Amino acid sequence: MTDITRLTAAEIAARIASGELTAVAVTEAHLDRIGAVDEKVHAFLHIDREGALAQARAVDAKRAAGEKLGPLAGVPLALKDIFTTEGVPTTCGSKILEGWIPPYDATVTRRLRAADVVILGKTNMDEFAMGSSTENSAYGHTGNPWDLTRIPGGSGGGSSAALAAYEAPLAIGTDTGGSIRQPASVTGTVGVKPTYGGVSRYGMIAFSSSLDQGGPCARTVLDAALLHEVIGGHDPLDSTSIDAPVPPVVEAARGGGVAGMRVGVVRQFSGEHYQAGVLQRFEESVELLRGLGAEIVPLDCPSFDLALSAYYLIAPSECSSNLARFDAMRYGLRTGDDGSHSAEEVTALTREAGFGDEVKRRIMLGTYALSAGYYDAYYGSAQKVRTLIKRDFDAAFGQVDVVVSPTTPTTAFPIGERADDPVAMYLADLCTIPVSLSGNAAMSLPCGLAPEDGLPVGLQIIAPATKDDRLYKVGAAVEAAFVERWGHPLLEEAPSL
Ligand code: GLN
Repeated sequence: MTDITRLTAAEIAARIASGELTAVAVTEAHLDRIGAVDEKVHAFLHIDREGALAQARAVDAKRAAGEKLGPLAGVPLALKDIFTTEGVPTTCGSKILEGWIPPYDATVTRRLRAADVVILGKTNMDEFAMGSSTENSAYGHTGNPWDLTRIPGGSGGGSSAALAAYEAPLAIGTDTGGSIRQPASVTGTVGVKPTYGGVSRYGMIAFSSSLDQGGPCARTVLDAALLHEVIGGHDPLDSTSIDAPVPPVVEAARGGGVAGMRVGVVRQFSGEHYQAGVLQRFEESVELLRGLGAEIVPLDCPSFDLALSAYYLIAPSECSSNLARFDAMRYGLRTGDDGSHSAEEVTALTREAGFGDEVKRRIMLGTYALSAGYYDAYYGSAQKVRTLIKRDFDAAFGQVDVVVSPTTPTTAFPIGERADDPVAMYLADLCTIPVSLSGNAAMSLPCGLAPEDGLPVGLQIIAPATKDDRLYKVGAAVEAAFVERWGHPLLEEAPSL
């Protein structure tokens, strides 16, 4: 019999619906897999064994009672530890939230439960989602299943590593500057940052509220679409939520085809920071799209060169405000509360002990950028650049249906290589950040292995806001063409496990 953990989410759901598999058997298979490999991978911060099995039993009972099951009923999922889960610890990768048990579910969590998705546990991440390697977690790093000495990307490295290690067929990530797409790219998986406002931020611990966006992660384009449909859609609890139906993503994933589509290639997404093998696989993907009948259109988006600088003013500014709520009074850690310190001192001591270096760096940068006398020069200028980037994208989408690029300039780099060099770390998001600033939708999907190191390379597809279905249409076509030509090397067992 096929190993259950190798199945896609769509296959698992179909087998549970037909009675070929029980949800409990599926859940146990994944919990066993986690038991066997997670000591090495460290994708999870918390396993909710009892909660997962209870949800699975409920699915089996529903089926036995003849109730209709949803499209992902009984399918296991790994949830990034940035989403609140009622009764289940939520740390956001930080010591400052150690021991906090949220009293409520995030909207994403609630929708997953309502769809009978089985939440296996909470995944590792860079502290407060700040980073590109998961090395900034206060709870130790995660290994890339392709090579455990390399980073799984970040901040959502735990979610993507769980997929690549076959610990779960589905995962949820969040993307502020690339944290869904870059981990997907370096682990050979699929990750989607929906249009800003497409997935509710309620109960998703805030980093940079004008950029933060939750989204689906999976091993196939169709699985990502099925998950997107479950978590997406309007939520009155999030004031920036788009009040419109979810774009027809599942239909698009099933009916892939790019003949006659116009696909843009932006000149600015290449250059000195890009690995040769990444550019080679990207160029082959462009040729593949041409071969499938797409028209390739070269584009110039000069403001993209300024995106990283603008992001590293806007994101820290918003984080310095959002993270003010960790004041030692309301959540998690409290240090120095022995009667000898004032309330203000307790707050300061707790923040000193509870936040890691990168979080402190961002809070200080942001506080500086927002301070009187500097606001216009820094934050104000960054907002102007953001407008220019939006305009460049608007002009591009006047000419093309989607834009493609590499997802990240290099394959997975060794753990430790960039840990002491924040600027080198920030370069991992060179191609993802312009999309975050503009609010458009984007997907990363595997487009082969780099010849020089045999590690996965990601193709980024970018669509105009609210046209998320185009990502799935193009993604499904590219995925099918890859499978036809080379089989699915990216669905084989990752080498180092
Ligand atoms: N790597 C980027 C950062 O450190 C993006 C993180 C994210 O998308 N959450 O800010």
